[in-house]
Amino acid sequence: MYVAWMEPSSTALGKTKELIKQGRERIGQTIKASGSRLCSYAERVVFLMDRSRSPDKSTQPPTSTDNINLGPSANPNAKPTDFDFLKVIGKGSFGKVLLAKRKCDGTFYAVKVLHKKTILKKKEQNHIMAERNVLLKNVKHPFLVGLHYSFQTSEKLYFVLDYVNGGELFFHLQRERCFREPRARFYAAEVASAIGYLHSLNIIYRDLKPENILLDCQGHVVLTDFGLCKEGMEQEETTSTFCGTPEYLAPEVLKKQPYDRTVDWWCLGAVLYEMLFGLPPFYSRDVSQMYDNILHKPLHIQGSKTVAACDILQGLLHKDQKRRLGAKTDFLEIKNHVFFSPINWDDLYHKRITPPFNPNVAGPADLRHFDPEFTQEAISTSITHTPDLAASSSSASDAFLGFSYAPTEEDI
Ligand code: AMP
Repeated sequence: MYVAWMEPSSTALGKTKELIKQGRERIGQTIKASGSRLCSYAERVVFLMDRSRSPDKSTQPPTSTDNINLGPSANPNAKPTDFDFLKVIGKGSFGKVLLAKRKCDGTFYAVKVLHKKTILKKKEQNHIMAERNVLLKNVKHPFLVGLHYSFQTSEKLYFVLDYVNGGELFFHLQRERCFREPRARFYAAEVASAIGYLHSLNIIYRDLKPENILLDCQGHVVLTDFGLCKEGMEQEETTSTFCGTPEYLAPEVLKKQPYDRTVDWWCLGAVLYEMLFGLPPFYSRDVSQMYDNILHKPLHIQGSKTVAACDILQGLLHKDQKRRLGAKTDFLEIKNHVFFSPINWDDLYHKRITPPFNPNVAGPADLRHFDPEFTQEAISTSITHTPDLAASSSSASDAFLGFSYAPTEEDI
């Protein structure tokens, strides 16, 4: 059954959003329950944990206090107390993303905190294979989140990232139901540009979804979470690791068949479809039905979309990866598709195209586009017993008037 999302009334919209949310949660549960291997950010970190162990320990399992090789981004002098941790702004499966202000210069960052223990547990459960680490490469692109540096304590890993405060694309999409073609084209083009760049480094992003597409304060795209990136994929190479976000799973991933970089073009198609129609392609509230739809149902394009939009969606969402748009010359094929003919790719790369929407944020402390579920997380009583945290919550109070909650000690 296709959800009746076409009704424009706000009650219908509210109900539909709830349904989508429930559907998404259910999909997640089903995937976890099935025991399928969901990869994560931790995957490449786990590899480093293995690699960084000294030779005499090589036969023993790694422990959660092992030192980890964080590559060139590692800053051995950095420590958690360098920051005032102000807000929880997001949650991933291995930890949280916190808004933090560096004490020495007052700069805001998003600090991703991962628990070594959880990562190791996951490794034991899932026999995660070693992979080379994206962190070890110098990945830099205008539409990929910048990693400033990383550090660790005995228990946790910290990644100091650009703080991106225009909100999740998903957040804006939910508010507006769907985007018009020019707006969807702009975001899709910036996303495609970032993916094309990753592919040029033999990295597959693998987890493209609206939650991982943020907007900066000007309205440009920033992709976060390289956790699912898989490195070392030459043009013909494939991998059969089961990864990805359920509603965007490509048929070959669902069938646990080997897949390659074209999986990212499927995901681009899924995101573009959701931007244009308000729901993922092949969506069904019934998860098994949705899986069946992804595998067997022809793509259903309804409404008054242009021929170019329909054609690129058909191309990107081709069930046969060998015939999918991007299978032959990768990003070049996407770039040259008529849907993107209004885009000057050079201007796009240099951010010379004015974004179609301005998030209108007042400054780095403006959290208006973040989900209150995260920004209003309850404060722990332990916070008052921790000198550093107590200091941080008071010094942060000026910048965050109006917000009554801060991260717990456990978060940091
Ligand atoms: P992730 O674990 O990377 O998927 O992050 C979880 C959520 O945290 C994302 O969906 C964003 O809402 C938020 N987030 C991640 N990275 C950043 C960042 N650099 N700036 C602002 N918010 C972020």
